[in-house]
Amino acid sequence: MTVTRNTKNVPYYQLGFGAFASLEGMVDARRSPDSPSALFYVDHFFRGGGKAALPLPARGDDLVVFVDTTQEPTVENIDLLSGEAKAFFGAKKPCCVTGIGGGSVLDTAKAVANLLTNPGRARDYQGWELVKNTAVYKIGVPTLAGTGAECSRTCVLVDYSRGLKLGMNSDFTVYDQILLDPALTRSVPRNQFFFTGVDTFMHCFESLRGSYRNVIVDRLSDTAIGLCRDVFLGPGDMQCDDNLEKMMVASYIGGMAAGNTGAVHPISAALSTVLHLPHGKANCCALSVLGDIYPEEHALFMEMKADNGIDLPSGICRNLSDDCYEALYQASIIHEKPLTNALGPDYKTILSKDRLIALFKAM
Ligand code: NAD
Ligand code: ZN
Repeated sequence: MTVTRNTKNVPYYQLGFGAFASLEGMVDARRSPDSPSALFYVDHFFRGGGKAALPLPARGDDLVVFVDTTQEPTVENIDLLSGEAKAFFGAKKPCCVTGIGGGSVLDTAKAVANLLTNPGRARDYQGWELVKNTAVYKIGVPTLAGTGAECSRTCVLVDYSRGLKLGMNSDFTVYDQILLDPALTRSVPRNQFFFTGVDTFMHCFESLRGSYRNVIVDRLSDTAIGLCRDVFLGPGDMQCDDNLEKMMVASYIGGMAAGNTGAVHPISAALSTVLHLPHGKANCCALSVLGDIYPEEHALFMEMKADNGIDLPSGICRNLSDDCYEALYQASIIHEKPLTNALGPDYKTILSKDRLIALFKAM
């Protein structure tokens, strides 16, 4: 067996209904005379005093930013947010950055934390091992489970100008502390819960079906897939409390295994960069036409979708312009690493332009 990459995981996690109450102590423990104030990024769903509001442990001198997640994080938006944070905190850095939300907000907090200690702009760090300095201390609080963003070493950003969806892959991107409170996910709409939840299933089976393997990642993937089967095919409703906790654990375990995606994620990334389709839904559209490459998982996914009464949009890529099909092809095929993992070095022949465009038209 080959030696694995030297692997970093999130050093501290706390799990359980009500765990959110620990956040105040965790943030306060980071405050110091040199860095007294904290920075919070919170999904806009939790804005205001309505039912969705969260008891944020923020003080008057903290910066709280509600992030509009109608659009997934872009490099431009991360530059704006990090500029705003630098202006607010001046020479004193925030004592910590807390991200509270789904993958979009968790990734936003990670990206800004990197930019607060590394010069330049977000797009300078899209790639592997480009971040050079330790980020500001980060706390991640998922309110939607499935992406694994709470524990992965990346923060996915879209650069529409380059037709590129790529994260800052670095050990510095990993959260220092995560708080996993399944109660926070009770308000997630049904379709969204499914689309984001099955992202874990996708990350893990793409890894297991690929050629870049290691024993630990395989075991983690098996476990996370088992939990997804319980949530989406077990006897209880997918959003009963037991399953909310299972989904949160699946996301965390699956997130540790994620990193070696296959054929689903490149096609999904193209749908996001070219047509602005959100990640979870884009994955589902991609897998819905990949029965030839992943027959077993395709069948299982269709069963999960039917069992939970989930609607997937259809015809999303019909009657597009030739330029648009070309852009979809380019934005898929650019993902050399996952496509090689799934299909081998000959991936461009196997996934020819004609075949890929036919797949998009079949969605
Ligand atoms: P999201 O964060 O974009 O949120 C989707 C929707 O759910 C938003 O409308 C949001 O307001 C809503 N929402 C979130 N929590 C809620 C709650 N508790 N109640 C009600 N509504 C709630 O969705 P996501 O699928 O979690 O994240 C997608 C993003 O994650 C994409 O940008 C994707 O590229 C990225 N991603 C990152 C990684 C990683 O390892 N960093 C892995 C996979 C995907
Ligand atoms: Zn994903």
